[in-house]
Amino acid sequence: MADTLNSTATDWQQQLQQQLSDRRDANLYRRRITVDGPQGRLLHVEGKQYLSFCNNDYLGLANHPKIKAAAAQAIETDGFGGGASHLVCGHNHWHHLAEQKLAQLTGRDRVLLFSTGYMANLGAINALVGRGDFIFQDKLNHASLIDGALLSQAKFQRYRHNDLPHLERLLEKTPDTGRKLIVSDGVFSMDGDLPRLPELAKLAQQHNAILMVDDAHGFGTIGATGGGIAEQCNLNQQQLPVLVGTLGKAFGCFGAFVAGSETVIETLIQQARSYIYTTSMPPSTAAAIAQSVDLVMEQSWRRDKLQQLIARFRSGAQQLGLQLMDSNTPIQPILLGDEATAIAASEKLKAAGLWVTAIRPPTVPKGTSRLRITFSADHSEADIDRLLSALEKI
Ligand SMILES: *Cc1c(COP(=O)(O)O)cnc(C)c1O
Repeated sequence: MADTLNSTATDWQQQLQQQLSDRRDANLYRRRITVDGPQGRLLHVEGKQYLSFCNNDYLGLANHPKIKAAAAQAIETDGFGGGASHLVCGHNHWHHLAEQKLAQLTGRDRVLLFSTGYMANLGAINALVGRGDFIFQDKLNHASLIDGALLSQAKFQRYRHNDLPHLERLLEKTPDTGRKLIVSDGVFSMDGDLPRLPELAKLAQQHNAILMVDDAHGFGTIGATGGGIAEQCNLNQQQLPVLVGTLGKAFGCFGAFVAGSETVIETLIQQARSYIYTTSMPPSTAAAIAQSVDLVMEQSWRRDKLQQLIARFRSGAQQLGLQLMDSNTPIQPILLGDEATAIAASEKLKAAGLWVTAIRPPTVPKGTSRLRITFSADHSEADIDRLLSALEKI
């Protein structure tokens, strides 16, 4: 008996070993690095210092003294742990304040904090649609949106990237028997380009569909006050009723939110399982978020500086004949194609003291492996020039 159990255990572990080694052979194996110290333009890895171009701390706030102080003070007054879920007794005044500030930034009635963007997307999609309903998503949407749709039991279809005629054909073929939800990234996370949002909003309206945008990379970086693509395109709560943002990127904190009408937010509080069945984030994190929202709204120089750095990089890269993507955001990928090429390029940059991670399938489609270069308001023009000269050499 023990033998049988053992051999079964060995079988599945052998299968896992085989899968891992297949992954290695295909250049798809991923390894974590362990970093020391804060995120910023410099990254410390195994005793060495690198100029970093791969975090999502676009505004350079992850190590901001005011955000650190806000968190430290809240730990003194409110302790560390959240203690319970929001609906039991874990909803602290710092969570409430962060929600109010985010409602101001987004121009929406209300905002609901979630612990991560992954959870916000799972929770929002599943609170709004279910069996008998229909979901339409851009092919390049973030994994959390895809997973949210798969979990929902709604009929799930994907339209080709930014191909609105394709989406329109799918909508036209859909019966009026259930709710329709159209979902798009606000800034596509691996390409840096934008959806055609005003047209998406029009299509949604024509087909009586709900429009949901996950602007994880747009909040803080675009829009006059950092309100993201909704602010840039001037879409109100009626035109864009479900707006998701994350707080671990440009806000330099952790967590995420959904912004919308009183009705949408109350529905999420009642029905979003990833909101209900989880401990609230530490109150000090919410205090840091509240502080960060002020900085994001007030310090527009950070967005201006980013735009200058992006323009400098793009014109330099064009002179070098590098293949850039259609992006004016701080995400500036260089498409390399196969996995091995992307890894080799990343390794060469590392040897030159620059940290740029290679992004491979399944994060991006096969044959589109790339260096995903990201900029931060912390970078200097000299940093950009150093990156360009390193890219020239590889
Ligand atoms: C990063 C990201 C998320 C996940 O947010 P987390 O807070 O890191 O879980 C969701 N959507 C998009 C588009 C993202 O880029």
